[in-house]
Amino acid sequence: MGPPIAGSALLTNAVGLHARPSVKLTQVAKRFTSRIEFALDPAGPWADAKSPVKVMRVKAAKGSTLHFRVSGPDAAEALATMLALVEHRFGEEPPAAGPAERQEKRYRGRPAAPGAALGELVVIGDAQRERIGTGDPALEASALQAALAAAVGDLRRLVNGSCGPAAEIVGFQIAFLEDAALAERAFAAIAGGEPAHEAWLASMSAEAGAYESSDDDYFRARVSDVRDIRDRVLAHLTGGIADTRVPAGAIVAAVDLPPSLFLAIDWSRGGALALTGGSTTSHVAMLARARGVPALVGLGVPVGELRGQALLCASRGLLILDPGPEELAAFERDVRAEAAEREAAAEVVTAQAATRDGTLIRVSINVAAEEELDSIDPAICDGIGLVRTEFLFHGRERLPSEEIQYACYRRIAEWAQGRRVTIRTLDAGGDKPIPGLTLDRERNPFLGMRGLRLSLAAPDIFRHQLRALARAAVHGDVKVMLPMVTMPHELERARAMLDDEVAALRAAGVAVRRPALGIMIEVPAAAIAADMFEAAEFFSIGSNDLTQYVAAAGRDSSAPAVADLADPTQPAVLRLIHHVVDVAAARGVEASLCGDAGGDPAAIPLLLAAGLRSLSVAPAMVGRAKLTIAGIDLRELAGPGAGMTSWRR
Ligand code: PEP
Ligand code: MG
Repeated sequence: MGPPIAGSALLTNAVGLHARPSVKLTQVAKRFTSRIEFALDPAGPWADAKSPVKVMRVKAAKGSTLHFRVSGPDAAEALATMLALVEHRFGEEPPAAGPAERQEKRYRGRPAAPGAALGELVVIGDAQRERIGTGDPALEASALQAALAAAVGDLRRLVNGSCGPAAEIVGFQIAFLEDAALAERAFAAIAGGEPAHEAWLASMSAEAGAYESSDDDYFRARVSDVRDIRDRVLAHLTGGIADTRVPAGAIVAAVDLPPSLFLAIDWSRGGALALTGGSTTSHVAMLARARGVPALVGLGVPVGELRGQALLCASRGLLILDPGPEELAAFERDVRAEAAEREAAAEVVTAQAATRDGTLIRVSINVAAEEELDSIDPAICDGIGLVRTEFLFHGRERLPSEEIQYACYRRIAEWAQGRRVTIRTLDAGGDKPIPGLTLDRERNPFLGMRGLRLSLAAPDIFRHQLRALARAAVHGDVKVMLPMVTMPHELERARAMLDDEVAALRAAGVAVRRPALGIMIEVPAAAIAADMFEAAEFFSIGSNDLTQYVAAAGRDSSAPAVADLADPTQPAVLRLIHHVVDVAAARGVEASLCGDAGGDPAAIPLLLAAGLRSLSVAPAMVGRAKLTIAGIDLRELAGPGAGMTSWRR
């Protein structure tokens, strides 16, 4: 049985869920074989919708929201029926105000992570919603007071019981919010007649401006904290959801989502992601694939239109609002297809990947956050092909020290239990800005100071990372990989720095091992002239960036025409990959691929044909990748016309 699907409806009939409606609810629920439960809170406790006693015990009054979770073979139809029953007041009274006619609307997006979901759309990061002030300064002041308190409550819940950098950052925000000085200006403006939201927005924009214009990098980096606080309070004032306690099974809609916000959402209860902007190779898309959250990007519709019940089907690239019976039936087929794929993938996930003719293929995983490893069994992979160390540098008060980095790299190396772990040095810049480190006002950051270029320009920071990596290499088969390498002299400089640091640590009696040093091939110059990188001990092809640079089609673009060009399987990219594989073979070093194409069932056969024998993919894609490598057509597993063939169209 697949994961439950969820949805919610407002109870508007006069008597709430009393005797007659309760009985009706259970009668209707019993028509389905699925398990149907409901609760007043998305976190439970859950009541069996087929038991009148249990339904009555919930004592749901008029005005409560009933949250349903349903699992079983007819789950989609059951959920839609239960929601309709509540919305139509159990057939006793006229339906609540609102359009009586179902209004199915369809939006096309680009699949960014496989899967299908049916649920309530919840727009997040939508803090700029309209609010009309009451005109009464006392009421406005208490609205702001309440919003400040609610924001503190959110943050406390967010760090509840945790420690480490996240708790430190949030602790800082709480201290800020609790300081009366923060809202002084806003309260003064409210006393002068301004509505609370405008007063708050203006005063916090001034606060952020003061940090922005600071000469000190550290203070400039606080701007994002101030904006975060501003938006959280503003969302409470305007009724938008700024925190990440979205109801179970919701389809989270946003223009784009910062990776930190994605990570803060509890996806274990189902749900999906619908971005009106974004791109399939953005970091949030990668996280969605890693966590197995179905996702569409580039829907190209004002996010405000995304309301109500919706059905998201990644394989068809469709988001359907208010879906009708036909769509619900198709959804059930998709869910079954997904489940068939997932089951087949689970069966092979720990097996050694091999093609039909018996050629062994290394399948490693990409890791973008240390916590991802908590729920992954190392036996599913041949190692880690890419650790994106940017996660250590994001959202911190200060850049991570050598000790913090060493502890983290060591944990990752030990997790792998002797398997190979390739850790990439910091790849900041481009779509991965780090306040206080990357340049703020680059016109074209993808062609600017990113990756190794930035590390070489900030040697002190780079040396800390190299030292931490050399120390961690004592605890496992650690290799180090340099991002965005363009010319051999960059590699040579980095190599000299690594050798210096290893020698210095050794001289100081610190346990170290000189890790193998390789380069990413993601700049066309490095791909074309791969033979010139004589010092590279391995190559790893970054197809995400290589594709955008070869096709001159930005990986962050949501324009369909551009997105279609950013295709890693187009001949120019494949030829370059082939060339790099040949150069590596001639030099006797390994060439692997760690871009997202490695986990895409539509791309894998072409990558193998280009000579690759080592792929590193999102953890959730490992089983599917192994099936595809073995020549198994995922569509056949799920039956004709169904199934996930590619998250990228
Ligand atoms: C790539 O460019 O393919 C890659 C793996 O690096 P990132 O996506 O982190 O830029
Ligand atoms: Mg890259």
